[in-house]
Amino acid sequence: MRPVQGSRRYVLCTHLHVDHVGWNTMRVGDRFEPTFPRARYLVTEPALSAWKKQVPAEVAAHGTLEAVQPLLDAGVVDAVPLDHHITDGVRLESTPGHTRGHVAVYIESQGQRALITGDLSHHPASGPSWAGASSRTCPTTRPGHS
Ligand SMILES: [Zn+2]
Repeated sequence: MRPVQGSRRYVLCTHLHVDHVGWNTMRVGDRFEPTFPRARYLVTEPALSAWKKQVPAEVAAHGTLEAVQPLLDAGVVDAVPLDHHITDGVRLESTPGHTRGHVAVYIESQGQRALITGDLSHHPASGPSWAGASSRTCPTTRPGHS
């Protein structure tokens, strides 16, 4: 299924693991381009900073290089604070522990509330490769780091 391009104003990345950024870009010929070129891609400042500090080979091995770098190249990323207010009734909430800069999305409308949790909790059922990848890529989850 092909996403409808041009219809999104914001794309929010709760964090930059590959299973949360895969549709950020699409292959066009021999390169990747933003899936929604007119949208702003919101990434928290700590998450983006941590991603940029990873060595390119490590980023490529986790499959996020082609899902994040083309956005930076196109200038469509906004690095936002952990408590960013997106619009009336929609704001970010810091949910540390899974990755540096991980956020949930708090939504409130017409007396109803919802929380999009991203990967708020990390469970062994996520798989041994994820557990290993997380400890390698996320300084906050390494033993001895805070
Ligand atoms: Zn994750």
